[in-house]
Amino acid sequence: MTSSNNDVVALAQRLLACPSVTPATGPVFAEMEAMLAPLGFTVDRFVVGEAPDGPVENLLAWRTTGAGPHFAFAGHLDVVPPGPGWASDPFAPEIRGDLLYGRGAVDMKGSIAAFVAALADLPDDLPGTISLIITGDEEGPAVYGTLALMDRMAARELRPDMCLVGEPTSSQRLGDVVKIGRRGSVNMWIKVSGSQGHVAYPHLADNPIPKLVRILTAIEAEVLDEGTDWFQPSNIEITDLDVGNAAHNVIPGAATARISIRFNDQHSGASLIERIKAIAATEGGTVEARISGESFLTQPGAFSDLISGAIRDVTGIDTELSTTGGTSDARFLSRLCPVAEFGLNNATMHKLDEAVAVQDLRDLQRIYALVLERALG
Ligand SMILES: [Zn+2]
Repeated sequence: MTSSNNDVVALAQRLLACPSVTPATGPVFAEMEAMLAPLGFTVDRFVVGEAPDGPVENLLAWRTTGAGPHFAFAGHLDVVPPGPGWASDPFAPEIRGDLLYGRGAVDMKGSIAAFVAALADLPDDLPGTISLIITGDEEGPAVYGTLALMDRMAARELRPDMCLVGEPTSSQRLGDVVKIGRRGSVNMWIKVSGSQGHVAYPHLADNPIPKLVRILTAIEAEVLDEGTDWFQPSNIEITDLDVGNAAHNVIPGAATARISIRFNDQHSGASLIERIKAIAATEGGTVEARISGESFLTQPGAFSDLISGAIRDVTGIDTELSTTGGTSDARFLSRLCPVAEFGLNNATMHKLDEAVAVQDLRDLQRIYALVLERALG
């Protein structure tokens, strides 16, 4: 008997054929459920949120075979808009040469297909629980996605011991990079209010620009840290400076600037906001801030060794453990358990003619299978 459920290419094509521009609902989740139910998984699909950031569909699936560790796989079925100019229909997957084309091929329907294919071949006597945490809201604001899934898991008392996020982390070759952490991100808006007036009568005005410049100079001189074993130094970037003054003979009444900080695990969003507020206050400036994500680090150890070992056994590559790049949903999942991210080659993600090497899909299936066997066995 043959099962199409272990054919990673067929599974990827089924998912790629469902348009699922973020926020995603419907057919792509029905397809996912149709793959998991025959493998003995309990599937819980639910829709949350309203326009414009929703509605979002999420899928939680789990299967328990006796007492043992709980291994979770997390990912997203939504994709970024394809945009015009593709060589073939972005939602009609097509194999040309060695590549499978389609929006989401690497980010990240391909890796979800590889995980399902790995499950289909797994010995069925491995003790433990396997769960899948799949959202339709990763590429968007992510307000109704993984956080909602974590609430759902808590309500069902599902608590993983380790979580693999299938984001496309590979850089040059499949397996060369595994992410064990991510930097945090916070944006701040600094405002200095003065008093508008005529440039010929500066004693009757209060120019906010020199004050803002002194604040920004002080911020530029800040050294947040020197980096750590696993993180590059935290960085402050001034991203905007706005006075909006079109008149050459007017001292403006206010001046604003915006900064963006990417930070490592030596800081929290809140600690950085306090730090910038203190600097701004010396010149009477005020600060508004929005934290996009906190940093996290899963210390290298048993879990990262497990993944690196499986990669080496399938590809022969020595993996680099990394914390570079933007934020991902791993920042939320890291509150539950050790988290690592590993998936396909990210060269074409979010681009025209996104494509995955068919051989990479097959290798990733084998790597995921080894990880599962060793995590549960
Ligand atoms: Zn992604």
